[in-house]
Amino acid sequence: MIGFECSCKKGCHKAPVDNYIIESGTIKKLSSIVKNYSSVFIVCDKNTYNAAGKYAEETLKNEGKLSGILILSEKPLPNYETIGNILVHVTDTSADSDIFNYSPLPDLILAVGSGTINDSCRLVSYRLGIPYGIVGTAPSMDGYLSAGSPILFDNTKKTIKCTTPRFFIADTDIMKNAPLDMLFAGIGDMFGKYTGILDWELARDYHGDYFCQKIADDVIRVTNACLENGYKIKERCAETIGNIAEGFAVTGLGMAYTGNSRPASGAEHIVAHAWELEDINEGKTPNLHGLEVCEATRLIADMYLMLHDQTDDKHLKTLIEKYQPYFEKIEQFCSEMEIFSPVKDPERIKNSIMKALGMRDRYTILFYLNDRDLLEKYAEKAAYNLVKRL
Ligand SMILES: [Zn+2]
Ligand SMILES: [Zn+2]
Repeated sequence: MIGFECSCKKGCHKAPVDNYIIESGTIKKLSSIVKNYSSVFIVCDKNTYNAAGKYAEETLKNEGKLSGILILSEKPLPNYETIGNILVHVTDTSADSDIFNYSPLPDLILAVGSGTINDSCRLVSYRLGIPYGIVGTAPSMDGYLSAGSPILFDNTKKTIKCTTPRFFIADTDIMKNAPLDMLFAGIGDMFGKYTGILDWELARDYHGDYFCQKIADDVIRVTNACLENGYKIKERCAETIGNIAEGFAVTGLGMAYTGNSRPASGAEHIVAHAWELEDINEGKTPNLHGLEVCEATRLIADMYLMLHDQTDDKHLKTLIEKYQPYFEKIEQFCSEMEIFSPVKDPERIKNSIMKALGMRDRYTILFYLNDRDLLEKYAEKAAYNLVKRL
């Protein structure tokens, strides 16, 4: 359990996380991290097996702690098939089956991977009541330490409340070898924190929502490090990879501490989610989450800047001005680094903003504009502005 006392309304923040370690070569600490467990079941896929799963398998086998390993097929999705697959295989083969008790289970699930593997293991772990830990293999999304799992079911994708992993191992030597588009996706997901935190401030001032200054400041600090060092990502700079992993850890813990996803996401995530759902409904494989979040961040940032120029509300102007330099730096970064933007049709972009309003009952700039009958006008302008910049 980690946490701290805080001056916000909650008074103190706690999360059921034992530790998270972000450094080069940290996979070597696996033995000591799992020292209190006796039977560990590993879940990975073919790629993550090569990246870290094999090492974990050998280490745990040598120590007599390996209860089994499941190697999923390439590019699994967080759906019935993957979750069922884990559920069918997870067992401790050395334990006796006892019809008067529950079936033999390991005392830890070790997820080796990123999005899908982490989300699926989290759900299985929560449902079975056994803890899990994660060895991250790519700095591609912000959900490592989150307590919810976005799962594809009933023809849609919904986040199911679970709990956090007990530990997060981020070995920058492993993560830096992830495909380049996953590295860009990671940094893009972090950029979304600027609009996410601004939406959170907006919700505090115009909707009376709970807000924690300390957590918001921490998220902005780690996001700044990603933005400043991001230019070195093409060279797979370990320091930059560490910045992104730190960003994910801090925002993930922020979510656990506040009990909601405000520290990680605002309107940009809801718009990205709309795009993802559209692809799923059309039977297409969704784009990388972080790339969609990055594009949606530029869209929402532009809507804020338009609002800044058109509003007479001094407080709101000051609020937006705090974030304006970040928004300008993101634009510069995306154009210089030629970040791939998956959605290019302005009508689709506009419609998804309108759709995003009804997707989540969370106060963001979308609600602010809608309450003033400005949303459609802003959505259309921002969509066409964005497409010109892509
Ligand atoms: Zn607080
Ligand atoms: Zn995200």
